[in-house]
Amino acid sequence: MYISVVIFLYFKSLQLHGFKSFADKTKLDFVDGVTAVVGPNGSGKSNIADAMRWVMGEMSAKSLRGSKMEDVIFNGTDKRSPMAYAEVAIVMDNRDRSLNMDYDEITVSRRVYRSGESEYMINKAACRLKDIHELFMDTGLGRDGYSIIGQGKIDEILSAKSEDRRHIFDEAANITKYRYKKEEAERKLAQTNDNLLRIDDILTEIGNNLTPLEHQAKKAKKYLELRKVQKKLEI
Ligand code: ATP
Repeated sequence: MYISVVIFLYFKSLQLHGFKSFADKTKLDFVDGVTAVVGPNGSGKSNIADAMRWVMGEMSAKSLRGSKMEDVIFNGTDKRSPMAYAEVAIVMDNRDRSLNMDYDEITVSRRVYRSGESEYMINKAACRLKDIHELFMDTGLGRDGYSIIGQGKIDEILSAKSEDRRHIFDEAANITKYRYKKEEAERKLAQTNDNLLRIDDILTEIGNNLTPLEHQAKKAKKYLELRKVQKKLEI
């Protein structure tokens, strides 16, 4: 098999610990030029591509060739017990500011525990998965990127639904970010509309109570006036 990774950014290194067949801490340094990973069938080459996709925010266990996210954690061999978590970190050279962050070097890391709990970090600071998606948006990398083309992927792209194919073209045309922002704005707008409806409901309810309350207020005022008069007369 072969893995083709087309990027604008320069990847410096990838570290795996407990990810699939990589039980030991393993570091791959990507030096200038092309890096090829060679090994017999089943030795874990595709696991490296899976680790890259995973650390950049992949959420589908199926596209990582598993049935659930826990499958990415080293599950032990005859001689070695399973690991409690999987961790991958990728270091990128960002001197050309391809990623919208003011750092020359960016490290993105992800960790998942058997409990399903996940941790995401950008330059060692905890972040949300959303931040990782936004970081890679429109770079061709990340969850919706087309930069990692695995075995059978071309067939998949050609036979995919037209909307899925459009997604790939959107990402290539650098408009995913705008589409995403538009969707987010539309979601917020819908939420605001819901809030307005609720406010309308509350206003109607308060409006209904207003007339009886006015009546009661008038009565109370009159009572106070009459009581003053009564007291005066008694004195
Ligand atoms: P090919 O060239 O045939 O596609 P490959 O070198 O790409 O092979 P991979 O598919 O990356 O190999 O690796 C498969 C190996 O990874 C299998 O031996 C499998 O047992 C191992 N593996 C996958 N998930 C785990 C896991 N969670 N724990 C331990 N080993 C795992």
